[in-house]
Parts: sequence; C-alpha cells; structure tokens
Amino acid sequence: MSTERVLVLGADAAGMSAAHQALRTAKQAGKAIEVVALEKTEHTSYSACGIPYWVSGEVDSSDELIARGPERHRAMGVDLITGALATGIDASAGTVTYRKDGSEQRIGYDQLVIATGASPIIPDWARRVDGALVGGVAPCKTLVDGEQWVQLLVAAAAAGAGAAPRVVVTGGGYIGVEMAEAARARGLEVTLLTRSAVMSSLDPDMSARVEKDLAEAGVHVAGNAEVVGLEVDDRGWVTSVSSSDGNEHRCDLLVLATGVRPVSDFGPDAGLEVGEWGGFLAAPDGSVAPGIWAAGDCCEVRHRLTGQWTFSPLGTHANKQGRVVGTNVVAPGTRAFNGVLGTAITRYVHGDAHLEISRTGLSTSEAQRAGLEIASMVTEGRTASGYMTEAAPAAVKVFANPATRALLGAQIVGGRAAAKRIDTVAAALWSGATIDHLAEADLAYAPPFATVWEIVQLAARRLADSL
Ligand SMILES: Cc1cc2nc3c(=O)[nH]c(=O)nc-3n(C[C@H](O)[C@H](O)[C@H](O)COP(=O)(O)OP(=O)(O)OC[C@H]3O[C@@H](n4cnc5c(N)ncnc54)[C@H](O)[C@@H]3O)c2cc1C
Repeated sequence: MSTERVLVLGADAAGMSAAHQALRTAKQAGKAIEVVALEKTEHTSYSACGIPYWVSGEVDSSDELIARGPERHRAMGVDLITGALATGIDASAGTVTYRKDGSEQRIGYDQLVIATGASPIIPDWARRVDGALVGGVAPCKTLVDGEQWVQLLVAAAAAGAGAAPRVVVTGGGYIGVEMAEAARARGLEVTLLTRSAVMSSLDPDMSARVEKDLAEAGVHVAGNAEVVGLEVDDRGWVTSVSSSDGNEHRCDLLVLATGVRPVSDFGPDAGLEVGEWGGFLAAPDGSVAPGIWAAGDCCEVRHRLTGQWTFSPLGTHANKQGRVVGTNVVAPGTRAFNGVLGTAITRYVHGDAHLEISRTGLSTSEAQRAGLEIASMVTEGRTASGYMTEAAPAAVKVFANPATRALLGAQIVGGRAAAKRIDTVAAALWSGATIDHLAEADLAYAPPFATVWEIVQLAARRLADSL
C-alpha cells in the first residue's frame, strides 16, 4: 500500500499545527504518512501577534517571534516547499497546482489541508495609479510588513527633530490600537482614524471609555470618520489624509489596520463553499469536502451562543483548528472545533498610561441581531484591594438573558491586570453558565490580586440582583 500524502497549503499557525499533529497522530497509530506543505513566502510559524511589540521596540528582533523556521519543520519531518504559491485545486483529480520559481507545477494529495490565512484589506485610496501602495502607507500583517514598520518609524523619529513626525493609523480594532502604541513608543504623534468607534466590537459606552483613555494618553482619536483621500508629495509619499468629517490629518506615515479577509479565492472554482465573509465553512471536524479540510483565518467559524457563522481571525482559533484537522486527517472523527465566543484582548501602554481592553460573548447589538433578549450592567471597581499599590481601576459590563438568566458575555476596560479577568467569564460561558453561577463561583481572593468581591463577580452579582 502506498504512503498517504497529506498536503498542507500555508505554513503558519493553522497549517503547521495541522502538519505536526498529523505526524504525531500517525506515529501513535503506527501509520506511515507523508506531509508536504506549500508556503508562498520564506517564513513559517511566526507570531504575527507579536509584530506590534517588535515594531514598538519592546521585542528586540523578529527572530524572537519565529517559533519554527523552515529548516526546523523539515528536520521534524514536514516536506516544506517555500516560495510555492498554490493557485488551484482539482478536487476530482486530487491535485493542486502551484507556482514556484516562475514555473507552474502540480502535486497530488490524498488529504488536503487549506490553511492559507487571511490577507489585509487594502482600500483603493491607499494605492497609486500603477497599483502600488502610496509611499509611507502599509499594512501590518507579515514579518516583512513588521520589518518595514520598524525601519519607517525609526527613520521618521530620527528625521523629526523639528515638528514631531506623525502617523495616522486607520482602523480602530485591536491591531490599530497596538500599532498606535508602537508608533507612540517610537516617539511619533498618532492619530487613530476609525470608521465607527475605537474597539467597536464593544458596546458604545465601553468604546467611549477606551476613546477617552486613549485621548488622555495622548492619542488623537478621530472616530466616525472614513478616509476619503490622501495628499502626496512629489516623491509620491503621503503627507496628509482627508476624512469624511471634513478634517485634514497631516502625516508622514499611514498604517492600514482596516481588517483582513480570508484567502479562499481558489475555493469556489474547486467547488468549495464560502460564506458571507468569504471564508470556508468547515464542519466541526474541519472538513469542507471529502478529503479536503480547512483551518485558521481562511475559515469562518460558528459562534457558540448564536449558532451563526462569523469571521473571527485569531491565532488562538487557528492553532486549535490546526490541531483538530491534523488529528482528523489521520484518525477521522477524533476531535472537533466547537466554535468561538468572540473572546479577545488587547492593551495600550505608553508612559504612565496603562489601558487594557477585553471582551467575550455577545455585545448588545450582536445579541439583538441574533434575536436574543439581553440585559447588561456596568460595574466600576478595582483590580486589587484599594489599599494595595497594585489596585487599578476596572469597568466591567456583564450581559445576560433576562428571561433565561443565561450568561451572554462581558466587556472589560481598565488598568493593569484588568483585562485577562475576561477568561473567568469566557470559561463560564463555554460551560453554559447562568449569571447566578458566575456570581456564586469560588474565585481566588487575596488583597494584591482582587477585591473581596472580585470585580467580575461583583458585576455578575449586581446584574443578577437586578433581573
Ligand atoms: C499584527 C497582528 C497582531 C495579531 N495579534 C493577535 C493576538 O494578539 N491574538 C490572536 O489570537 N491573534 C492575533 N493575530 C491574528 C493571528 O496572527 C492570526 O489569526 C493567525 O496568524 C492565523 O493563522 P493562519 O495560519 O490561519 O493564517 P496566516 O498566519 O495568515 O498564515 C497563512 C499562511 O498561508 C500562506 N499562504 C497564503 N496563500 C497561500 C497560497 N496560495 N499558497 C501557499 N501559501 C499561501 C501565507 O503566506 C501564510 O504563511 C494578529 C495578527 C496580526 C497581523
């Protein structure tokens, strides 16, 4: 019997989790498999999540962000082909075409794992007539982007002996906030320009807290405004941004943090269904068609609370989905990816300013869109007993269904050690807890770590009492 070939497209979080899990599962099962991976770049298995902290200077070098380079993967048994762009799938023949070194090649598979991730959305206004990006304008998605941002910010800071160099960050999601932190750390003035509110996945009152804290920390926040055009100098370099509210924002650099979309363009031609966001709609076992699997940012995912598809491109999901797929390609039906809760966390830190932000579950508008009744309450407190130096402010908004008392989510905006408390709520939500369960649970207390009624639990108790 010939050795089965598992072919993986994309060699980052999801793809390489799947590749190594397949090898491990096959070894445990005493089965011989060959794992081949095609990766269009020369980089593998790096922490994109760490790029803003490399750009800021907090992380010294990109080497620290690379978990496993190509040689390490090869040494561990993956036949990795870098510089290989997959261009099409022939599902009936069981082959993939790819371009490498200018020539088109074809490779067969028994099991195919698609893990091509997501690519940044580049608005038309960011491009010159020849299609290239305007000078000083770039996304922050890959290690190559990160390297470029380190160089651009260092050069801008060095050149800015007179007027402070300025960067406009477009997009108020977590990457926008993290790049704002990075640019401030490099000594630039920052305008955060965003179509709706900063961190708009929070309820408006919680976003407003974020905007207020960012403004107090020196970030110029321009909310509810879209970019309508760029001014460039005679070198083709960005000099200012005009926004839909009629304002002009002078700048030397512009970060594109306007979101990503799944890389799934070859899917429909191969008969693979994609959803509203363009992502593959994988079953809980990761399969999208017989012998074809998908994992990571190229997929949409099921929200556990609504059952609806959503797009939640996060490394935490990509790694878990990769593990599920890597197991199931060898031992079908063994593992499942059981959806997401929309849990996310970020921070903005500069000088004395320390702002943490997190969320899980449904916001008010998400619940309403899903036709669910939702009640909420904001509780303000502290992260440690007031007499301890560690104590930082925290605002916790908790959500529950007033009819069933089911816990629906939480959002936290606060200082040091505030945001990661969201995991208490996420774990409760995962287990289907009510607001009363969260209010009653046995959580840890000592003065340096929490108040005696821990802030998340206090928020749950107050909401429970009000229902
Ligand atoms: C700046 C930044 C900060 C982030 N911070 C966080 C965070 O704090 N927490 C969190 O959970 N997530 C974070 N993320 C998201 C996280 O990095 C992604 O969700 C994760 O990398 C997704 O992994 P993936 O393997 O699905 O896709 P990707 O990492 O995008 O990898 C896909 C791979 O496929 C390759 N590829 C694409 N098309 C082809 C093709 N046709 N042929 C061959 N190869 C191809 C790509 O080159 C790439 O190497 C962050 C992302 C960024 C950019």
